[in-house]
Amino acid sequence: MFKPQRVIFETGALDYELGRSLHDHFRSLGIEINQCAINRVKSYIPGEDARSHYSHAKQTLVVGVKKSLTFQSCKPSAHYQLPLVSGCIGQCEYCYLNTQLGDKPFIRVYVNIDDILNKADKYIKERLPENTIFEGAATSDPVPVEPYTGALEASINFFAKQNNARFRFVTKFTDIDSLLDLDHNKHTEIRFSVNTQSIISVYEHRTASADKRIEAVGKASKSGYPVGFLIAPVFLYEDWKQDYKDLLLKLRNTVDVNTTNNTSFEIITHRYTEKAKNRILEIFPDTTLDMINENRKFKFGQFGYGKYVYPKESLDEVKEFFTMEINQLFGEGTIKYII
Ligand code: SF4
Repeated sequence: MFKPQRVIFETGALDYELGRSLHDHFRSLGIEINQCAINRVKSYIPGEDARSHYSHAKQTLVVGVKKSLTFQSCKPSAHYQLPLVSGCIGQCEYCYLNTQLGDKPFIRVYVNIDDILNKADKYIKERLPENTIFEGAATSDPVPVEPYTGALEASINFFAKQNNARFRFVTKFTDIDSLLDLDHNKHTEIRFSVNTQSIISVYEHRTASADKRIEAVGKASKSGYPVGFLIAPVFLYEDWKQDYKDLLLKLRNTVDVNTTNNTSFEIITHRYTEKAKNRILEIFPDTTLDMINENRKFKFGQFGYGKYVYPKESLDEVKEFFTMEINQLFGEGTIKYII
């Protein structure tokens, strides 16, 4: 279980019961505690250079009050982000958050979960009779802090009662035991971000192993949750086909078909922007991530900046491989996209 090195309470957080109980809990563990205004948080996170700022921030939990309750859109996977947590304790070298969360990417949780869910309720009502989908992991992995906040539990309970809304989140972690016995009504999809153990060992620092994630898949599936898989990023290395084949087979043997009848796959090959590459090289100067521009194809993205993706022949090979393997093991119609 994640144990932060320091916890910072933003002004107002201790006015809430959850804030006070977290304060008591971390104080009893002897963890460094600070209180400050929201704009002073970063000054309490030490470090001398990019690498140490990053590593201290990844061990810093910030407890705050969510003030702005305007939800960001979250296309194409959902209509809105559900802002329960931001940041992540993982240290994946390729992570998209490396360029999103600034030089000190701390983990922030909120004590006013009821306010967030009440706002979700307003968004749902605005869109009736359409269904509204909320994504709980757009700028975070919310699972490692779940034992502290219960935010996912509250959300799953909330969405279980909604006829016109669904909830989904994705994780590389396994702290989901508190969610297993909830009456989720199949309205929450738990997606597991999985990869081959060789990729996890080299690039996904401080995340759960492949076997532990697969064990968590089994638990979620047995509890009847719709289960999805995000295989990302797919890397093309020497034995990639065999390793991904083994992974898919393990997933097939783990998903309980009696309780989980709709499994989905999202598959994203490795890609990077020039900005991300520079940031990654600052934090992980010895990285072995394949970021040689000459080996890639430059592709303009929908947000106005370009990405380096695998060349077309490689992408075609990936598509062919995963389509065939997944269709054979899980049946047709389970792949949402392969990019
Ligand atoms: Fe980023 Fe996900 Fe890794 Fe966390 S687990 S560092 S969100 S890629």
